Amino acid sequence: MGKKQFKTEVSDLLNLIIHSLYSNREIFLRELISNASDAIDKLKYLSLSDEKLKGFSFEPCINISFDEKAKTLTISDNGIGMSEDELNENLGTIASSGTKKFLQALGDDARKNSNLIGQFGVGFYSAFMVADKVTVVSRKAGEDKAFRWESEGKSTYTVSEAERASQGSDIILHLNSDGEDYANRWQLETLIKKYSDHIAYPIYLEYDQEHYKDEKDSEGNPIKEVEHKREQINSASALWTRPKSSIKDEEYKDFYKNNYSDSEDPLFYIHTHAEGATEYTTLFYIPAKAPFDMYYADYRPGVKLYVKRVYITDDDKELLPVWLRFVRGVIDSEDLPLNVSREILQENRIMSAIRNGSVKKLLGEFKKIADNNPELYAKFIEQYNRPLKEGLYSDYANREALLELVRYKSSEVEGYTSLASYKERMKEGQSAIYYISGGKEEILRNSPLLASYKEKGYEVLIMDDDIDDIVTEMVHEYKELPFKAINRTGATSDLDKDKGEKSEEVKKSESELADKLKKALGDRVKDVIVSDRLASDSAGAIVMDENDPSMQMQRLLKQMGGGEMAEVKPILEVNPANSLMRKIADSSDDDYVARLASIVLDEAYIAEGIMPKDPASFVREVTKLLG
Ligand code: ADP
Ligand code: MG
Repeated sequence: MGKKQFKTEVSDLLNLIIHSLYSNREIFLRELISNASDAIDKLKYLSLSDEKLKGFSFEPCINISFDEKAKTLTISDNGIGMSEDELNENLGTIASSGTKKFLQALGDDARKNSNLIGQFGVGFYSAFMVADKVTVVSRKAGEDKAFRWESEGKSTYTVSEAERASQGSDIILHLNSDGEDYANRWQLETLIKKYSDHIAYPIYLEYDQEHYKDEKDSEGNPIKEVEHKREQINSASALWTRPKSSIKDEEYKDFYKNNYSDSEDPLFYIHTHAEGATEYTTLFYIPAKAPFDMYYADYRPGVKLYVKRVYITDDDKELLPVWLRFVRGVIDSEDLPLNVSREILQENRIMSAIRNGSVKKLLGEFKKIADNNPELYAKFIEQYNRPLKEGLYSDYANREALLELVRYKSSEVEGYTSLASYKERMKEGQSAIYYISGGKEEILRNSPLLASYKEKGYEVLIMDDDIDDIVTEMVHEYKELPFKAINRTGATSDLDKDKGEKSEEVKKSESELADKLKKALGDRVKDVIVSDRLASDSAGAIVMDENDPSMQMQRLLKQMGGGEMAEVKPILEVNPANSLMRKIADSSDDDYVARLASIVLDEAYIAEGIMPKDPASFVREVTKLLG
């Protein structure tokens, strides 16, 4: 048996666990019990669906024993077990990229927050917070060889052949000085009750109990006897199967915290029993903080599927639409066949009914909170506005409902506004919902385009989220009101409403100015427009043609492999009343006009937070003019 090297990530993690994470050591037990429960779940599932293991019968249980003198603690299960390869793979490397993200997310501040550990799929290693050596003896179901994995949590581990009577795993902790107190009946009982009461399988604790016999010895002293006992500690009932009225708020919250490795209470939860064409129970939780991996492609789905209380899978991204990936909880169906395979699930009619029903329920609950509990809804929006927006373009069937749920910043109100209240505040006869998008909030709020809308009483939504443009482009309208970006063409009809016709003379001078600038800027712009909607101290601003894709859309298309897309050029919109524009209009020096025009264009880019194409020459020109 040779020594094997941990993958670097594992070594880093172990180092961190042993030296830095110590605020809440006791969670190691929760993590190991949760692994034991997962292992039993897996075997149960395979005994229903796998060719080789079909009909495999066993009495699921988790067993905890300890030796106070030897300072060992053993967590045993009769679940799926691990083969030699799996011991190497699951305990010697990190299959998911969990560890790296865990290390990143912890950063320096959060170093001591060992509570996070389970969320990242690295729970097993928490054993090293309390042990200086961990031995795992495991036998995979359906195989006859067992193997022993052993490590001191430094940089190596060993794997060798071992004996085990039947399938399952023993995790044996050789407790260190920080952990030796855990080899104690009362400690263990308290921890199991606290963290693992809702584990669906019985958790037994073995202990020795001394008591005095009724008889006395020859000298008349009482005789002590040691009795070995084994007692179930958890209540092992699936919380969601109990009637709502019998469950306390605390129980709901504990169930969440203990099953989803979160130290914070959820924002809210929804427990539903649906009857009718399909019968199922759902218990959904909305975490207080968005899951750390919400924006990773390989995020872990948070909803587990059960059929008649038998666990089926926790790794199905199809149980809810992707935009609801932050939801945690349980779906338990009465109608699905127990041997349903994960592949079949996707096309299953019952499953899609459950899915649709669940989405409707969640949307309904979100709306209720939005209407009745603005404080809570604000917290919800702070975390989940963005996935709701994703739903707007990916979930056509629920678009109407989602339009009532998303929130936007605005030129007129503090914080966030709904589209419905925007509509209520609209001016009489207003023809569109105006917004500005394509950059950071401060930049958008300071846009020279915004002033004239504000002045005339048109509220403008500040859409600073990088998917906002894509959403408005897909969704087009809210209650028949089109979304119109003020930094694109075609958004001035309301502004122009009460204006009289321009005189021929003005028209002529404007078109001359535009021609002059077009000639000066050549192919750097798509067009030049003269308008009177810019702030008076602004010479020009960049706008996009309303028929061209937005900058963000272009970026996205590129990322999605759009390849060599022709660059879409901006339109320069200028303010003829600005003194710089008047200089251009009045000058007949082509070279001078070209230099000023170039500065105006570059300044317009800068106002958008975009670097001019040739910053050095811009600086040179400005310096020359000022000097
Ligand atoms: P996670 O449980 O989130 O996957 P862990 O670090 O807790 O991450 O465990 C790593 C892996 O080790 C598990 O995914 C599982 O494959 C394996 N494992 C751990 N404990 C057991 C066990 N008692 N029985 C079978 N496999 C186990
Ligand atoms: Mg785990």
